[in-house]
Amino acid sequence: MLDLAITGATVVTRAGVAPADVGIRGSRIARIARPGALETASQTIDARGQLLLPGAVDPHTHLDAEMFNLHTIDDFESGTIAAAAGGVTTIVDYAFQERGGTLAAAVEKWRAKAAGRAIIDHSFHIALLDPTPEAIAEIPRMVEQGITSFKIFMMMNFEARARDFLRAFRVAGESGALLTIHAEDENLIGYCTEMLLRAGKESVAHFAASRPPLSESAAVKRALAMTQMTGAPAYFVHLSSRDAIAAIRRARDKGRAVLAETRPIYLYLTEERFLEPHGERYVGYPPLRTAEHRGAIWEALADGTVDVVATDHCSWTLENKLSANRFTRVMPGMSNLETLVPMLYSEGVAKGRISLERMVDLVATNPARIFGMYPKKGVIAEGSDADLVVFDSERKVIVQSTEMHSRADYDPFEGFEVTGWPSITISRGEVIVTDRREDARRGRGEMLRRAPFRADWRST
Ligand SMILES: [Zn+2]
Repeated sequence: MLDLAITGATVVTRAGVAPADVGIRGSRIARIARPGALETASQTIDARGQLLLPGAVDPHTHLDAEMFNLHTIDDFESGTIAAAAGGVTTIVDYAFQERGGTLAAAVEKWRAKAAGRAIIDHSFHIALLDPTPEAIAEIPRMVEQGITSFKIFMMMNFEARARDFLRAFRVAGESGALLTIHAEDENLIGYCTEMLLRAGKESVAHFAASRPPLSESAAVKRALAMTQMTGAPAYFVHLSSRDAIAAIRRARDKGRAVLAETRPIYLYLTEERFLEPHGERYVGYPPLRTAEHRGAIWEALADGTVDVVATDHCSWTLENKLSANRFTRVMPGMSNLETLVPMLYSEGVAKGRISLERMVDLVATNPARIFGMYPKKGVIAEGSDADLVVFDSERKVIVQSTEMHSRADYDPFEGFEVTGWPSITISRGEVIVTDRREDARRGRGEMLRRAPFRADWRST
């Protein structure tokens, strides 16, 4: 006897896209059967005419984070509800090390933020901000405890400590950890910013020019050299520009363990947005680019150079975003967890730019594999967690912040017409969202222990 059966859907599995019935016992997928061949279940969801996808895995979120003395408006309650409503059933959030602080303390602090709030499963990367000998010595212990990735920000406080970071890279590589790298060159940005401000160009209209594509590609190339020297595998977060992508492609062709992520804003928006009234809404690091770069990112999604689409969800109120009097002080980031899957389906799959299987790789299977959660997460397979999304590929939705579950009072994709939206989200066998209505116990989400990085992750 099954606990739950989902029948009649077109299911995306490792074997491809085909009609199948999926049976769940407890928290796991017990059986995938040809249509009509499943044993009886105490509850059945009739999903005829819909797709059944693995729950998405977003390995880049910032919930309950603090920047410039302000708190993001989404914590682990509203943030994971927004995620679940959009078909995301696992997140990996960034736990920030404090200056002089231990890595263990960072994880503990973030675990407490999620406890009692998160409605989906989650894990943490550690943002390594202060690579002291003590912090570096902690890296292998963290990996043993299932925290297997570390973030390096190249755009701030990096230059002065580059040698310390190199030591951290080596230890991370030797410990089986993956480095996630924010690649923007601190000095080039500092120089461009200074030139603009000196010329009195302080408004958000000049934001993109303060962090040009060259500041990204230069940092990617430098990080590639640093990780090659130290033997550490590198995962580049939120890539936004053509030459940075080309540098990744070249390193990959030489057999290096180099991975690439992009984020939704670079796929759907361009830098003209900064000229609009309230252009501050779209500020994130790195900035929006021209249509040429947007095209390069889409190409890289289709040809396999980019491995993951993740949100970098970091939400603020409009008041927070508009409070700055110059571009350097605008709070970076925006809310987009709920739109990740439906917009990639609508703009990518429905418009023929990528296949459905490729979309599932980009938002579920690849991030689960890369960050040590596969096959528990990221795939519809017998024995995997029953994290599933019944997806209505015909449903039309106009993005409106008032309908979204994030506490942000604006949406960067306001007014976008989207074809395809999740109708049911299931986490470990429990239905937690139905038709955009969430019904889940706060704190039901579990913290995941992740496996070390494997260079052969594609074949795991
Ligand atoms: Zn981020």
